[in-house]
Amino acid sequence: MPVLYATHPLFLDHDTGNGHPERPARLRAVEQGIEAAGLREALVPVVPVPASPEDLARIHPPAYTQALDDFCRHGGGYLDGDTHVGRESWDAAALAAGAGLEVIRRLDRGEGAVGFCAVRPPGHHAVASRSMGFCLVNNVAVAAAFLADRGERVAIVDYDAHHGNGTQDLFWTDPRVFYVSLHEWPAYPGTGRIHDVGAGEGRGSTLNLPFPAATTGDVFRRSIDEVVVPALSAWAPTWLLVSAGFDAHRRDPLTDLGLTSADFADLTRDLVALVPSGRRLLFLEGGYDLEALAHSVGAVLSVLVDDGAYRPEGPSADGPGAAVIDSALNIRARLADG
Ligand SMILES: [Zn+2]
Repeated sequence: MPVLYATHPLFLDHDTGNGHPERPARLRAVEQGIEAAGLREALVPVVPVPASPEDLARIHPPAYTQALDDFCRHGGGYLDGDTHVGRESWDAAALAAGAGLEVIRRLDRGEGAVGFCAVRPPGHHAVASRSMGFCLVNNVAVAAAFLADRGERVAIVDYDAHHGNGTQDLFWTDPRVFYVSLHEWPAYPGTGRIHDVGAGEGRGSTLNLPFPAATTGDVFRRSIDEVVVPALSAWAPTWLLVSAGFDAHRRDPLTDLGLTSADFADLTRDLVALVPSGRRLLFLEGGYDLEALAHSVGAVLSVLVDDGAYRPEGPSADGPGAAVIDSALNIRARLADG
């Protein structure tokens, strides 16, 4: 079954200002990764359409999206210390969120096994009424809310090096969406403690795995196999969304984790097995070293297309972080006991 691939030239027009790590060249690196992996012919291109106001309103109040639209149309500027927008940024953000919904429509029609959205701006830090951390609209949350509203049980697994505070916050009490994050700790944005498990009806459907600097892929993989897969299998998701950030790569300039492109491919292979074909969608989040990003996207797409023929690096091992797995298992066991 084919892999659906959504991107658009408008994503290059989102202007974050000179010297910003979240830059248009990132999407050119993604394209280079596809070429290097020899996957161009294997991907089915999807032309995204902007998310409708109704689709956005499941996550973001109209007053927020309208203010953001107005701010961009008047030329933009800084929304916070590290989040900058230009004139085209609102249109890019609405299109990035819409890309996920368009891929879901195509997957629903049986046109593919899995989708990948190569979009910017990224989304997982955006909360309901505030942009932050390079994110304006929470793309993965817009897709999750769309699916949950039609009765799906949605697992979101976020392997970006930063905790997806926005996604966690949006579904903190929502039993229809299970949010899992593997991230560096301590690091921006300072959320995602191991004891944070959701609240109310959503208690137990948030799972945080905060890893120390230099953690390697073997520990990430063990945590998926020993903690994440058992927890999600018991919860029985009907859809899987992945916040696929690649800034946990050992070359990334913003973080200090120790993964390689092969690790991202292996993690992705383990995760997509959780749900049936046609019910899986990945969103690009972070990843700020261009070569690492190209390698990582190439290796991940290769796993989805041809079981990983393209593997420019080997997996990483022997870093710290194993204690996090034991702590997480203890917390899950206590939750299971009520
Ligand atoms: Zn990140």
